[in-house]
Amino acid sequence: MDEALNRKLRILADAAKYDASCASAGAKKRKAGPNGLGSTSGNGICHAYTPDGRCVSLLKILLTNYCLYDCAYCINRRSSNVERARFAVNEVVRLTIEFYKRNYIEGLFLSSGIIRSADYTMEQMILVAKKLRKDEGFAGYIHLKTIPEASPWLIEQAGLWADRLSINLELPTQESLKAYAPEKDSASITRAMGQMGERIAESRAEKSRHARKFAPAGQSTQVIVGADATNDADMLATSARLYDSYALSRVYYSAFSPIPEASSALPAKPPPLQRENRLYQADWLFRYYGFAVDEIASGGEGGMLDLEIDPKLAWALKNRDRFPVDVNMADREALLRVPGLGVRAVDRIIAARRHATLRLDDVARVCAGLKRVRPFIIAADWRPTAETDRADLRQRLAPQPTQLSLF
Ligand code: SF4
Repeated sequence: MDEALNRKLRILADAAKYDASCASAGAKKRKAGPNGLGSTSGNGICHAYTPDGRCVSLLKILLTNYCLYDCAYCINRRSSNVERARFAVNEVVRLTIEFYKRNYIEGLFLSSGIIRSADYTMEQMILVAKKLRKDEGFAGYIHLKTIPEASPWLIEQAGLWADRLSINLELPTQESLKAYAPEKDSASITRAMGQMGERIAESRAEKSRHARKFAPAGQSTQVIVGADATNDADMLATSARLYDSYALSRVYYSAFSPIPEASSALPAKPPPLQRENRLYQADWLFRYYGFAVDEIASGGEGGMLDLEIDPKLAWALKNRDRFPVDVNMADREALLRVPGLGVRAVDRIIAARRHATLRLDDVARVCAGLKRVRPFIIAADWRPTAETDRADLRQRLAPQPTQLSLF
């Protein structure tokens, strides 16, 4: 790769790293041996999960980090004193194909600062995807960041070439958006999400095998956590509304990280990283475990999630009257609320109890650890005693600081 292109890649991959909406995951570094191909390290390579659960490596870059807008929280904002660069459309196509052939990546995540106009920028990004698909026959994964102010026709085009589209909400409330990103318009964001949501649903309902699919991997968004004063309850209520109204595949929570020469309106320190983790756990609870948002986070604690224990355990400890739950009798909804039992474990319990009365050992076989489950269940040979039910249960079940808690 020539020096000029290498410089652009360094700048524009670094500028893209703040965007979590492609599901960057902390995959371990992996490098092929002398006879192999591929590596998970290198400029701008991140990881994302496809709808069928595969982890794919993506080239994650911006088309340019020049931007007409001046969003206070963004390193690429107009007033930011950063080194700027811009890829030509053909350069992104070339990089993607070269990296793909070398087995470094399986797809592309492309975002951009806004140059000239929303439409012009969107056209350039669409051109990259179209060239990859039409000229290069590229069948890999493409995720395009959509610019909400772009015309509906361009958003339609983007969805026909990309697997996934996303629009970053960035800030969870209209007031915060006004304060920190005054050039952005929350109405345009929700309008574009609405358009994409309708087209995705329409496309999924289309039975013809010949019809072109619109964003088959759905749409996602990112919300920054801790840049403004929004509490977790309001953040989760916003996410629940987005899932319901626009059929989003994912809302990504990205802990605010202070940027160089940041606006004085922004906090000097990032929020605790655990806050981001707890929001993801809470998000799963209302999407897959039947919890309502106000059961998980409410005004009672200032609307903030407990950082020490996961939200499911926090709910169970506050609602001891709902336990113990009999694993041989309880319905699926009640079992899903037991700390330590995930969706798969619950389904396996329900399948197994059709053939036998379950004992504690049977439950142990389907869950990750009995310690968290035991105080909350009844089995054929088990009922919590005063010993397991002691007042210091929270302390005994709270993970050690280095331990990640499991549902
Ligand atoms: S429009 Fe996007 S790239 Fe431009 S300053 Fe705002 S967040 Fe940053």
